Amino acid sequence: MRKNIIIYGVFLFFILTGVTACTKSQGPIEKESQISFLAMDTSISLMAYGKDAEIALKKAQEQIQGLEKRWSVTDEESEIYKINHSDGKEVEVSKETAEILAFALQMAKQTEGALEPSIYPVVSAWGFTTEEKRVPLKEELADLLMYVGYKKIQLSDNSVQLEKGMQLDLGAVGKGYAGDKAVEVLKKCGITSALLDIGGNIQILGTKPDGENWNIGVRSPFYGDILGIIELSDCAVITSGNYERYFADKDGIIYGHIINPQTGYPVENDLASVTIIASQGKQCDALSTALFVMGLDKAIEYWRKNDGFEAILVTKEQGLYITEGIKEKFTLKQAYDYLKVYEVNR
Ligand code: AMP
Ligand code: MG
Repeated sequence: MRKNIIIYGVFLFFILTGVTACTKSQGPIEKESQISFLAMDTSISLMAYGKDAEIALKKAQEQIQGLEKRWSVTDEESEIYKINHSDGKEVEVSKETAEILAFALQMAKQTEGALEPSIYPVVSAWGFTTEEKRVPLKEELADLLMYVGYKKIQLSDNSVQLEKGMQLDLGAVGKGYAGDKAVEVLKKCGITSALLDIGGNIQILGTKPDGENWNIGVRSPFYGDILGIIELSDCAVITSGNYERYFADKDGIIYGHIINPQTGYPVENDLASVTIIASQGKQCDALSTALFVMGLDKAIEYWRKNDGFEAILVTKEQGLYITEGIKEKFTLKQAYDYLKVYEVNR
């Protein structure tokens, strides 16, 4: 699976850089630098322009790797690991960890628990973080769900306390949040134009060096290719779906990595993928996961009640629902002409 992610990442990056390469001859000549590495269980490619871009990218890489060290669920040195093995005791955490947890709790509340940062006991039972995938028994899941519930997480300043048996998983918000932090680092280094691909999560700083919008490929849930292109600057584009990480049992039944916190089973609804476009990566990341859990109708209802983001929802029945604020900027790839497109209005 990791190999697939890497190939996909390189493919996506190739498309994106291919787009920018076309414009380089027209715009001012800015030095382009790139860096690729593995972190947060995915492949990451960062690209920035300007004379200080190379050093800025190194610092952004260090930032992302530093956050991975704090938030990994499997690294015994990480803060999340310590919280998850605290046996009900209070744990002191860094400012960044307290910040992301506060954000995850706020989004859990806002999405009525569709985003569930304490889902780890269930994710772990399915083996999604250990590569030993298995289908747990119904009774096992019912027992584990007793340890799931964001309302039971205590966070005050820099200390976190869970009830015994509870465990956190920041996998649904970590990459988006890390993207925001990486953009902050680049800005501090004076970079005004950059494109970050964090395992397919796209974060863009400014415009392309020639002042034009970036052309961002939206991931398709069907063949792992590009569904369409959106013209954007200064924002993030993040997609969630159960096509991303999954396994099949001996009967060929597919189980995806995004869990319905009500049942403990992988989400099974009318949606194939959810793409969120917003100014911040952390918001995109939290909402792409949460709206995927909600299903089409509730996701649309959520968008209508909440400002500050746009969405592209793809259904298993080949429908593409696009919110009014992004429709004009989106061009569907010819290969997906067969999808039925619906505009979603307020
Ligand atoms: P994403 O790729 O951002 O949609 O996040 C999916 C990851 O978040 C999974 O691999 C799990 O580690 C974790 N996760 C799964 N289901 C949920 C959920 N309902 N709420 C929060 N995190 C989840
Ligand atoms: Mg997410």
